[in-house]
Amino acid sequence: MPAERVGGIPFGLGATKPHNYWEVLRTAWENKRHPLFTWRILRDGVCDGCALGTTGMRDFTMKGIHLCTVRLNLLPLNTMGPLDIRILEDVNALRSVSSKDLRALGRLPYPMLRRRGDPGFHRISWDEGLGIAARRIRTAPPDRIAFFVTSRGMTNESYYVANKVARFLGTNHIDNSSRPCHSPSTTGLKDTIGVAASTCSYTDWIGSDLIVFFGSDVPNNQPVTTKYLYYAKKQGTKIAVVNPMREPGLERYWVPSVPSSALFGTRFADAFFPVHTGGDIAFINGVLKHMIEKGWINSAFIANHTNGFEALRAAIEKQSWEELERQSGLRRQAMFDFAETYSRARTAVFVWSMGITHHRFGVDNVKAIVNLGLAGGIVGRIKCGLMPIRGHSGVQGGSEMGANPKDFGLGFPVDEQNADRFQGIWGFRPPTTHGMTAVGMIDAAYAGGLDVLYMAGGNFLETLPEPEYVREALARVPLRIHQDIVLTSAMLVDPAYAVLLFPAQTRYEQRGGGTQTSTERRIYFSPEVPGRRIGEARAEWEIFMQLGERIRPEASHLIHFEDGAEIRAEIAKAVPTYDGIQNLREKGDAFQYGGPRLCEGGIFPTFDGRARFTVVSPPDLDIPDGRFLLSTRRGKQFNSMIQGEVDPLLGAGRRDVLMGQEDAAVLHVREGDEILLSNELGSYHGRVRFAPIRPRNVQIYWPEGNVLIRRGIVDPACEMPDYNALVRIEPVPVSEMRP
Ligand code: SF4
Repeated sequence: MPAERVGGIPFGLGATKPHNYWEVLRTAWENKRHPLFTWRILRDGVCDGCALGTTGMRDFTMKGIHLCTVRLNLLPLNTMGPLDIRILEDVNALRSVSSKDLRALGRLPYPMLRRRGDPGFHRISWDEGLGIAARRIRTAPPDRIAFFVTSRGMTNESYYVANKVARFLGTNHIDNSSRPCHSPSTTGLKDTIGVAASTCSYTDWIGSDLIVFFGSDVPNNQPVTTKYLYYAKKQGTKIAVVNPMREPGLERYWVPSVPSSALFGTRFADAFFPVHTGGDIAFINGVLKHMIEKGWINSAFIANHTNGFEALRAAIEKQSWEELERQSGLRRQAMFDFAETYSRARTAVFVWSMGITHHRFGVDNVKAIVNLGLAGGIVGRIKCGLMPIRGHSGVQGGSEMGANPKDFGLGFPVDEQNADRFQGIWGFRPPTTHGMTAVGMIDAAYAGGLDVLYMAGGNFLETLPEPEYVREALARVPLRIHQDIVLTSAMLVDPAYAVLLFPAQTRYEQRGGGTQTSTERRIYFSPEVPGRRIGEARAEWEIFMQLGERIRPEASHLIHFEDGAEIRAEIAKAVPTYDGIQNLREKGDAFQYGGPRLCEGGIFPTFDGRARFTVVSPPDLDIPDGRFLLSTRRGKQFNSMIQGEVDPLLGAGRRDVLMGQEDAAVLHVREGDEILLSNELGSYHGRVRFAPIRPRNVQIYWPEGNVLIRRGIVDPACEMPDYNALVRIEPVPVSEMRP
């Protein structure tokens, strides 16, 4: 039997794993009402799931079909019919409905209004809805209005128009979903190598000597990467994983689109390095310590293309092995093993995700990975690179299109000089005042500092820590506007004055189509798909634009666009990195900005053309006696959208608490026992499930786990919330067990 095969049992029967073929059948059934429309979306559209990127069911990396269950599970959002708006007449009845069931009610077909004291929403016209919003925004100081734009399904065109309209209204309070996602990657990469995106392409995985996943579970979040990994393994690529959990999907997977793998499975990871949650910096510094001692660093690359290595060397020399072992959770031999594997690899790609970014020191985590990459000289070469892999289709483009408080667009931070530049393009001068992040917006709302909060998609109630605080913050905003395709629990929060619902079209319904930027910086065109439309839903960019026009009719020509093509033409001028976007107009049109690799030849877009090492010290993560370090994870879900009660890769339920058997023995609990997790913030009633996770570390599913995550603990460089917490764990007495 070939070494990479999982076993001789066909289709992994009996193993805990996703059942992809069954999912295809189930989704086909769920989308049966509009088979032709569904087929056209799959065949022609760019996937609105993760940011791997497709054109129809193809990609630019591998031959064959590119399709996964994440996309299939999201399809009903694009194909289902309108909800019966009478159900919105009494929101009390909806409060006990799960978010999954709220979405399943159907698409939002009409603008709706709920004023303070009303039991629910009633239908209004677009004219009335835009009028209410315009009057309130017109009378509010710009500093008291804020915009948030989500990342699933949103197009570059919509982000760009949202950015422009927010600045047109005089505010820099605009942010997008990359805040609680990859904002530390953006900050960390920009500070060190001068670019805030993946330096390489997916094709660099295949044939690279080594791929390392840091805090990333791609089989769950970007499932088609398993196909890339299959072909990488075929070419002899070694895979290493640095993560507290031995993720089963990275250990082995049955890749459905590769017959031999679908039948007998494929083993992926060659080595696991189970660090403590948050122990990555200590681990990486230990690896670097070995590399320096052994002379395994790429001295020529360091000398010719970087600054700051000597300071890093001196700092690492002072860090004791005892400290590095304690903070990383691993012995120095494990760090040596990693260092040896890395130094033997002529080429390597480092991939990371939320396990790295979801910390109060997320930026330092990213900088530590960059240090390791620069020490080996793996930037700017074929089959090499640094890749912060994105989970959502819009998250790369959102910030690059300027839907963030710090930049007017990629490469143009908010400052006087760039305000002048954009005045030349836009015909009005954008503000240069401080702009709030998503986290800052909720704090401002709680403190009574916002008059209007405009949320295009997303659900702060389910994505930010301390949901009850977020609920109260939302309830204190006089006017909330929710622009969305379906109902969310945040819409049901009582209004201080009024709540408006603006029904949006999906990316496939929008006039003239739209574009999306993938993790590998490829900008794809997604065409408008002919088929049924929903009530009076409008294109997302059009709603932002029409609102701006209503607020300042005398200057409406400055923000008016006829269609997507006109927006793309302006993006090409405003954000020159995106030059070429104006030529995208048909299915299959795409281009990769910057080419397959950034920083080629070790030339970095920094002021001196050199990359920068950073001294990063391991954070103090000692776990007090009697406590456990809790982190949150994703199951069968997309962002906070839960699609199934069981995580197919682990077989765990949503209430399960994943812990090692060693910890369970210490706690005198067995698998299936009810336990209570608690800290000074609250408690969480769960059930023990054994998992291959390092001792003293436990995981629960997100967003349910947000009740134990304290707000206000953020990375100061980017305001990424820390989604980890110390908890006590105790068995639940039989008398208090749930039935
Ligand atoms: S891997 Fe990502 S881009 Fe590809 S089909 Fe699945 S969700 Fe869509």
